[in-house]
Amino acid sequence: MSTTIEKCTDCGGTSFVQASDFINLRPLDKKLSIGSERVYTVCLDCGEVVSIKVKNPEKLI
Ligand SMILES: [Zn+2]
Repeated sequence: MSTTIEKCTDCGGTSFVQASDFINLRPLDKKLSIGSERVYTVCLDCGEVVSIKVKNPEKLI
């Protein structure tokens, strides 16, 4: 997985780490759906979450 983020919007830092809380995001109208994990891109300098991505968006359909 790659990210195009180059600069933190909060502190201007350029070091990031990607992390997941392993809680799946699920579609509202399909409560039995497995859903998909969220992946956070976090600034290593200030902790700002600069991006939240759904790992497998097709699983929300
Ligand atoms: Zn930052």
